Amino acid sequence: MKHNFGAGPCILPQEVFKQAAQAVLEWDQTGLSILEVSHRTPEYEEVVAETERLVRTLLNVPAGYSVVFLQGGASLQFSMVPVNLLGDGQKAAYLDTGVWANKAIKEAKLFGEVAVVGSSKEQNYTFIPKDYDIPKDAVYFHCTSNNTIYGTELHAFPKSPIPMVCDMSSDIFSRQVNVADFDLIYAGAQKNMGPAGVTLVIVKDEILGKIDRKIPSMLDYKIHIEGQSMYNTPPVFSIYVSMLNLKWLKAKGGVPVIEQENLAKARALYAEIDRNPLFKGTCAVEDRSNMNICFVMENPELEKEFLKFAEDRGIVGIKGHRSVGGFRASMYNALPISSVHVLVDIMQEFAEKHA
Ligand SMILES: *Cc1c(COP(=O)(O)O)cnc(C)c1O
Repeated sequence: MKHNFGAGPCILPQEVFKQAAQAVLEWDQTGLSILEVSHRTPEYEEVVAETERLVRTLLNVPAGYSVVFLQGGASLQFSMVPVNLLGDGQKAAYLDTGVWANKAIKEAKLFGEVAVVGSSKEQNYTFIPKDYDIPKDAVYFHCTSNNTIYGTELHAFPKSPIPMVCDMSSDIFSRQVNVADFDLIYAGAQKNMGPAGVTLVIVKDEILGKIDRKIPSMLDYKIHIEGQSMYNTPPVFSIYVSMLNLKWLKAKGGVPVIEQENLAKARALYAEIDRNPLFKGTCAVEDRSNMNICFVMENPELEKEFLKFAEDRGIVGIKGHRSVGGFRASMYNALPISSVHVLVDIMQEFAEKHA
């Protein structure tokens, strides 16, 4: 048995895999595979509508917000956000907390002025900057709720005097957030929502249509909202599997229940990292992510051996990102706490071997 700690695409529940596999063979007694149905059939339109309802229910999305399913990953949102919101000669504010935030900044600079209000780049993004001001003359403030690569998370969001945009790719549906505090939320699906290929965007309708740039149709939020995520062929299968996964989450009790499970998993692993003399965490304790846990060894020469030791015992996907090194254990919603206990046991066994 494998324990998948991969950072994304990542583990999804076994029952979701089974239902998805069945639908590939025959979808709901239609005599057809989910891979060959037209997205214009009433049955499939209902899949998109149901996925949207699940998003709205699970996240308590208030009235006045649209929910759309797009393509191009979170990375296309780095461009779509400024294309739609940042007019020529206007300024946007960005918080620089990692590689993804940096990529978002790079794209925004193509369309207007960017004020980086805070950055932890000099310290290799090991903490979340906190004392910064968001300029009132900027048109929006952009932050990244969870820094997948460096293992830091915004446990509190700033009170922004201007519309707040957030890349929630790696912690959406993992913890409770107040959607009303944000004006635009986006997330690539492949870390907690479903398979790769679909991107969730939740946007407050009143922030759109305020700039006079000509926007290509596929980059225009309004076009996708009007088309109800079907302006062109949507990623049919990715949305379908996302629906199955969100149903699984709802049946479990929703975000408040999974949040407690995620906290228990994170506490168990951080406790071992802090206790075990061979390992140490890489981030400021108060900013530690509950989704992606980064750690290294006191003696880096042992890292290769530990990686093999863990892999031989069924652990998958814990090699750290090249910009941090060491290890990263990603603990998305579907990872059971039993897998975390297995990893903790392996760390203890390894420490005894090297005592
Ligand atoms: C994975 C990730 C991205 C990139 O997502 P793509 O869907 O591959 O474009 C962006 N932001 C964050 C926070 C991520 O974790």
